[in-house]
Amino acid sequence: MELKSASKMKIGFISSEIYPFSKTGGLADVAFALGKYLAINGHDIRLITPLYSSIDTKRYPLKRLKEITEVNLWFGSQKYSFTVYIGLIPQSKAMIYFIHCPVLYDRGALYTNDPDEHIRFGLLNRAALELCQKLQWSPDIFHLNDWQTGLLPVYLKTIYNWDRLFDQCRTVMTIHNIGYQGRFKAHVINDLSLSEYHQWFDSSDLYHGHLNFLRTGLLHADKITTVSETYAREIQTADFGEGLQDILQGRAQDLVGILNGVDYETWNPQTDPWISKKYSINRLKDKKENKKFLVERLGLSYSKNTPLIGMVTRLAGQKGIELLDGGLQRLFAEHDVQLIILGSGEQHFERVLYQLQLSYPRQMVFYRGYDTELSHQIEAGADIFLMPSKYEPCGLNQIYSLKYGTVPVVRKTGGLADTVDLYDWKTQKGTGFVFEHFSIKGMYWALDYAINTFKYPEIWKKIMKQAMNKDFSWQKQIKHYENLFESIIQE
Ligand code: ADP
Repeated sequence: MELKSASKMKIGFISSEIYPFSKTGGLADVAFALGKYLAINGHDIRLITPLYSSIDTKRYPLKRLKEITEVNLWFGSQKYSFTVYIGLIPQSKAMIYFIHCPVLYDRGALYTNDPDEHIRFGLLNRAALELCQKLQWSPDIFHLNDWQTGLLPVYLKTIYNWDRLFDQCRTVMTIHNIGYQGRFKAHVINDLSLSEYHQWFDSSDLYHGHLNFLRTGLLHADKITTVSETYAREIQTADFGEGLQDILQGRAQDLVGILNGVDYETWNPQTDPWISKKYSINRLKDKKENKKFLVERLGLSYSKNTPLIGMVTRLAGQKGIELLDGGLQRLFAEHDVQLIILGSGEQHFERVLYQLQLSYPRQMVFYRGYDTELSHQIEAGADIFLMPSKYEPCGLNQIYSLKYGTVPVVRKTGGLADTVDLYDWKTQKGTGFVFEHFSIKGMYWALDYAINTFKYPEIWKKIMKQAMNKDFSWQKQIKHYENLFESIIQE
């Protein structure tokens, strides 16, 4: 169903991170893009997020929202005060309200293990509702994202229930990664000022001494989405549901998978300001210059015929890093191949990668850190992009890779399964190399297949072009959100 231009909606989008202000992963990119494209389509979308001390307010100047003086909120016996700053999503008119509460958001990282973590995000939920009250703004949809926003439906239906402003508001909860649920001890219910409303929480959780933000959101949101169709099916199973599969099975009618899009204004080899030489589907030979630049920048030697594999990733169990230890030894023994990994995260993975780099200094570079420019240069310079994830709700890098003609090698899970098609020598169709079993053997099979195919430049070029022709733009994907919101409002 196409939206009529008259159907403009009011959407309150609550997120714990928004690119380019704050980012640890794909959620920030999605927040940016949904803000941008829903605003471009004429909807009144307003984003609400914490003002972390790490936000670069020199680069992105924000203005104090003068209409709202300091707001005081009690959490248990503790009083917290916040003010509000405003900014815009770059390249759009989407307004962002930043919740300024230094005592909660002046920390070394966006997410912490501090004892008040539940209050940090409990406050975000209540601040969003308080803000709407002060502005007398009543969104048609509150779009909630991940565990940090899981309490909003409960606050809406309990403490804020008296306010007729919210009568028509509906809630949509999007799961970007079910591996992170916001699990706390049950006693935090007092700090959250919700002890009178314990019946709104999962009784078994409370009985066992827990309180789970994400589960609570999934119980009470009007609709649930996640970021690919395959992941929507996977999270209803014990293998992927992380303990929430039962509630998701119970709400299967309300659960939809909408694949994330990509912002091709940011990720496009024809316009990318960070890469050494711009290129397009018609000027593929210019991609080689990016490969030469990248390997030389990182101290490897350049060879046109040696396939270069790239990875840009959080170093977390989810990402399949454990397969590299064992898989790479075999790969380097049997193939002339190079590998560049950009990533940071869990220390034991960093140690494994440093060790591998020491053993294979001419084949491999591990660049520890978070570096946006280098991530673009890897997308442009590598021949192959590797994502051997154990699970992957959507994944963005494989979609960028398709656009950059950097052929993805991925495991068949979540959004990876929905975006990359296995190349078939018979039909000559396909955009990458896909393996099913999460094992060294599985990953090696796909890499071996890719590297052997790379030896045939004409075939490789064909795969690159098929990949580059794929369209996973937000302009396309945004329609699914518009249709979903519209259907909820009409219910
Ligand atoms: P996740 O959200 O699970 O980390 P996604 O593929 O959905 O995975 O999104 C990851 C995003 O973060 C991508 O935009 C990717 O380029 C970026 N990213 C991840 N690690 C790094 C890094 N070390 N340096 C630069 N960008 C990174």
